Amino acid sequence: MSEPTSASPAARMPVLFVGHGSPMNAIADNRFSRAFQALGKAVPRPRAILSVSAHWFVPGTFLTDNLRPPTIHDFGGFPQSLFDMQYPAPGDPDLARRVVALLGAATASLRGDWGLDHGTWTVLHHAFPGADVPVVQLSIDSRLPPSGHLLLGQALAPLRDEGVLILGSGNITHNLAHVFSQGFRDDAPTPDWADAFDADVARACERHDGAHLARAIDLEDGRMSHPTPDHYLPLLYVAGAAAPGDAVTFPITGFDLGSLSMRAVRFG
Ligand code: ZN
Repeated sequence: MSEPTSASPAARMPVLFVGHGSPMNAIADNRFSRAFQALGKAVPRPRAILSVSAHWFVPGTFLTDNLRPPTIHDFGGFPQSLFDMQYPAPGDPDLARRVVALLGAATASLRGDWGLDHGTWTVLHHAFPGADVPVVQLSIDSRLPPSGHLLLGQALAPLRDEGVLILGSGNITHNLAHVFSQGFRDDAPTPDWADAFDADVARACERHDGAHLARAIDLEDGRMSHPTPDHYLPLLYVAGAAAPGDAVTFPITGFDLGSLSMRAVRFG
């Protein structure tokens, strides 16, 4: 009898959106860091990871093509131990070129001057602690409307049949001014707009309603939840790469620091 194998090359990979929250989750032992660990164990082992991080929000669509992408500590005011952390996963220039081919050379190009920012490594440090799965980052073009990001996500879908885990890393609600106005407290109350937007987005994911996901950020609760769109847009890549028949689950739910949704979304 042969052993069943969930890591068969023919298996279609799920796509994942993860709320990364505070960089402190990288070194904390809390319910979110433990949930990040469980996420890594719950998916078939990927050949490589394509990460769309909120923290690479620039005018253009770029792929990291470094063989050894540096760990970028793109934050301030945190303990030295966080700045000392490294996530030495290799890059995958072949995957970077494959993504350029999928998106078109007129749209996407390679960059060697980025690496793994904290949207990527604070999650992967827990999910794939061996740092032995190659990682490529895809930037978020700050010039595109939400629907444009959804279309780019759709173009990435073939990667799911090539053993690539598409990971979006942001937060479904992300209003840092509000977080700081509440004293950056774990026990801050969750405001109605955050609850409502998080629930609305979850329902739209469940019914595979990409058009609503692209529209929602411009509605009242969306604008309150996202003074800037960077932490929302990674979800649109993930939703775009999802197939209509994918099961939709939420491996992580809840809020950190009152209003920061930590909801993770898994398609497939
Ligand atoms: Zn962030």
